Amino acid sequence: ERFITSELNAREENFEATLRPQVFADFPGQDRVKERLRIMVEASTNRGEALSHILLCGPPGLGKTTLANIIANARGSGIKSTSGPVIEKPGDLAGMLTGLNEGDILFIDEIHRLPIQIEEYLYSAMEDFVIDIMLEQGVGARSVRLNLPKFCLIGATTRQGKLSSPLRSRFTMTCRLDYYRVDELEKILTRSADVLNIAADTAGLHEIARRSRGTPRIANNLIRWVRDFAQVRRESIITGPVADQALTMLDIDKDGLDEMDNRIIEAILVKFRGRPVGLKSLAVAVGEEEGTIEDVYEPYLIQEGYLLRTPAGRVVTNKAEMRFGIKGIGGDVS
Ligand code: ADP
Repeated sequence: ERFITSELNAREENFEATLRPQVFADFPGQDRVKERLRIMVEASTNRGEALSHILLCGPPGLGKTTLANIIANARGSGIKSTSGPVIEKPGDLAGMLTGLNEGDILFIDEIHRLPIQIEEYLYSAMEDFVIDIMLEQGVGARSVRLNLPKFCLIGATTRQGKLSSPLRSRFTMTCRLDYYRVDELEKILTRSADVLNIAADTAGLHEIARRSRGTPRIANNLIRWVRDFAQVRRESIITGPVADQALTMLDIDKDGLDEMDNRIIEAILVKFRGRPVGLKSLAVAVGEEEGTIEDVYEPYLIQEGYLLRTPAGRVVTNKAEMRFGIKGIGGDVS
């Protein structure tokens, strides 16, 4: 089973890599972020210096990893990628840092999950390009200072709030990625259909874009599902109605909400009768991990105007009540 899992993961990664744009021009959306990054790249190229450290924040699948690679391409620098939970010992970090060339980018995904003692080593690395590591333990313990090449750290996080303020303050630029508009997702899907050789008309792509929760990764996954569906149904092209049937089969509704989105709204309205709910209780009620609710579901439901985060807990809005035709006794019932 482990073999199958790892093989599937590799295949998924491969698939994402195939669809990953390499240049800003192939990356629709996030206009303000792209503009800022382009300026940083150009300025650092002109000065012949390493880029300053950049923090990319936002829900999963919005293009943080992709942007880090595009930045490296645009700057013409090398990039090494790792992730917060993978770096367990100071030596792991020191090894990565000393292996970089002048001007290289170190990309740390899920940087909020770096162990705190490792994070502390990053401070001097980011600020002064040195790292002090302890050799040996006990009586023989001594610390050695290693000089590092001038590198650029790009951190990605789904939770900016979880980052310690000393770390946050060491990034020169913080960019927040937003959910994509439907027309932007249509552009992304048009390119994906091209790369994957999928036949789809504009209405078909529009339907998929509309129901992708504003997220390119989801859009790219859905178009593959719709392609399979069309193939089995012997449809030669993905049209609006074909996409609609395929997505409905996945329990993605007309408003683009999926089963878990609906379960969350319904739990608050019905089980908790519209009263403010804490994250823990909500997670238990819908059978999903707290972290996933916080990173994936809530931000989208909030942006779409179904949910509010208040000091007392999560509450649903009138829009959510109208959707289910139920009025809670708490919340913002007028
Ligand atoms: P994150 O690191 O934020 O979780 P990724 O950068 O891994 O997201 O993107 C997930 C998938 O979505 C990748 O296949 C990527 O190519 C695609 N993607 C994300 N943003 C865009 C975009 N603006 N244009 C085209 N494809 C995108």
